[in-house]
Amino acid sequence: MDPSLRELYQEVILDHSRHPRHFGPLDHATHKAEGYNPLCGDRVTVMLALDQDGRVADLKFEGRGCAISQASASMMTEMLAGRTLPEAQKLMDGFLHLVKGEDTKDLAADDREHLDVMAGISEFPMRVKCATLAWHTFKNALDEGKIEGASSSEAIGYKKGGAA
Ligand code: ZN
Repeated sequence: MDPSLRELYQEVILDHSRHPRHFGPLDHATHKAEGYNPLCGDRVTVMLALDQDGRVADLKFEGRGCAISQASASMMTEMLAGRTLPEAQKLMDGFLHLVKGEDTKDLAADDREHLDVMAGISEFPMRVKCATLAWHTFKNALDEGKIEGASSSEAIGYKKGGAA
């Protein structure tokens, strides 16, 4: 990789870890899960709100960990918001392939470009679990983290395609 590009990517990761997007509690969450990476000590809680169309209307995270785990969680919340569950699954699969250095043909071109800052992780197998922690936790929240009594009808109105 071009050294200047690598430097830029490190800046992006540090910026996300220092100023994480979508950090904090999510009041109207419908699903929630906690994740822990014992190899590094990273902890993350992912909260999301599914709307009635089965779309990720909103998601946020909390937790502490290394720069990579925090940056990955921050990027994830930015990228998954507004997606349907099949779209979210596809993005997650593509991300997991990317950080393991595998084929990413299943990722849309703009998603691949957005996630390129994380591609270098594949050179550091010890850090892959840092990068994937939030994504696995998101999946766990969907699969087994439904919050009792939470109603998707109260999810905030995400406007399809950003239409005003
Ligand atoms: Zn870590």
